[in-house]
Amino acid sequence: MAARRPVKSKASRQAPLELPPHVAGLLGAEAADLLHALHQPPPVSIRWNPAKHKAADGEQVPWCDQGRYLPERPVFTLDPLLHSGAYYVQEAASMLLEQALEACGPLPSDAVVLDLCAAPGGKSTHLAALLPRQALLISNEVVRARQAPLTENLWKWGRHDCVVTAADPQDFLPLGPFCDLLVVDAPCSGEGMFRKDPHARNQWGPNLVRTCAERQSAILGHAWNLLKPGGYLVYSTCTWEPAENEDQVEGLVRNGAELLQIPVQGQWGVVQSAAGIRCYPHRVRGEGFFMALVRKPMEAMGPGGTTTLGRPMPAGADSVRQWLRDREGSVLLEHRSVLHAISRPWAPLAAALAGTVQVLAPGIPAALHKGDGWQPHPALALNAVLDHGAFPAMDLGREQALRYLRGEAMPATGASGTALVRCNGLGLGWANGAGNRWNNLWPAEWRIRMR
Ligand code: SAM
Repeated sequence: MAARRPVKSKASRQAPLELPPHVAGLLGAEAADLLHALHQPPPVSIRWNPAKHKAADGEQVPWCDQGRYLPERPVFTLDPLLHSGAYYVQEAASMLLEQALEACGPLPSDAVVLDLCAAPGGKSTHLAALLPRQALLISNEVVRARQAPLTENLWKWGRHDCVVTAADPQDFLPLGPFCDLLVVDAPCSGEGMFRKDPHARNQWGPNLVRTCAERQSAILGHAWNLLKPGGYLVYSTCTWEPAENEDQVEGLVRNGAELLQIPVQGQWGVVQSAAGIRCYPHRVRGEGFFMALVRKPMEAMGPGGTTTLGRPMPAGADSVRQWLRDREGSVLLEHRSVLHAISRPWAPLAAALAGTVQVLAPGIPAALHKGDGWQPHPALALNAVLDHGAFPAMDLGREQALRYLRGEAMPATGASGTALVRCNGLGLGWANGAGNRWNNLWPAEWRIRMR
């Protein structure tokens, strides 16, 4: 990993904070400890991508196999491993999602998993690492400004069979109950982020808690209708307000949900509440967090199901198929002039999604229209579906990779065709030969500006 720089706590530049009344009331004498913890620098943690990095060393986050605490905050921007999706920077408490999945037991190998509030992609990349190989992950984000960070993080992570949608949760309803697992990491009043994010402290107020609780009830109401009988729903927030946590889960239970325990070990410091688990920074090495797991009963079978729409293969798609590892098992869907690769069994659902909600990517973007043909998409270079043997490779060292990530062209003699740019053996991006140089195809919006 790259050079380190000292941690500056944003919280230290803030006026002393007060705990919201409900939180102080809940904690009693412990409230002073929480307040003290909120003035300490937050721990720094990452989650390695097991598909891209085999030897995760360092101090383990106890509840997450690939989670690691770092002794200090490195300059992440200057680490090519981050840009190639070898790890994701994530606060540790959120990694408890792994325990919720553990509690679900084995999901069907062809599970459909919907991450309904997905940006910037922390839970989605974690799900991408944990789900059965044949499962489909649908990552949804309704807020436009947050969609680009989601696609960037998801595409860098590089799992096959991911669909990205941009819908209000209620837009999915015509599809009926089609999900085996739903994750609702809801927009919330953000008390658990007070230490890391001054904005969370500045915007907090009782009205915000009320608005968030209403929004959460609406989201959960829709989510419930999308869940198959026997399906699981993980609900989480980064706040401590009972109205946004336990009360929401109790609403689901009133609807017939079965409340399940998320297993935690005593030494982790996680608190079991009436309806889920709570993390406080004075007890747990992470930020504030709440998580609950429920299951829809089998007998709640209602009408619905998925539509199966078909789409013809676009012209020229056969050449793109040659770039894929599983040529026979993949279908290419054209959407907004981009060819997307998806495993054959998921093509009807991806097409049905495209016919029902706003879809940003009905699979892994594989190729973009260029003139009469197709040019490989930046997401393909980073993804497991790419056959690395389909392109000549250009392996870069760290300094060269940083120049590539800044968008610089690379000097060459007699360069032609398209080459796969790699660093640390991982696909990073593309370069186009133009005689005396390789033109840089790293997306302008992903470029690093730091020197
Ligand atoms: N799951 C994400 C992660 O782990 O990186 C964090 C999600 S954040 C806590 C909540 C997300 O919900 C935000 O991206 C926000 O834009 C989105 N959101 C806001 N209003 C929403 C709504 N009405 N329905 C669904 N999602 C909404």
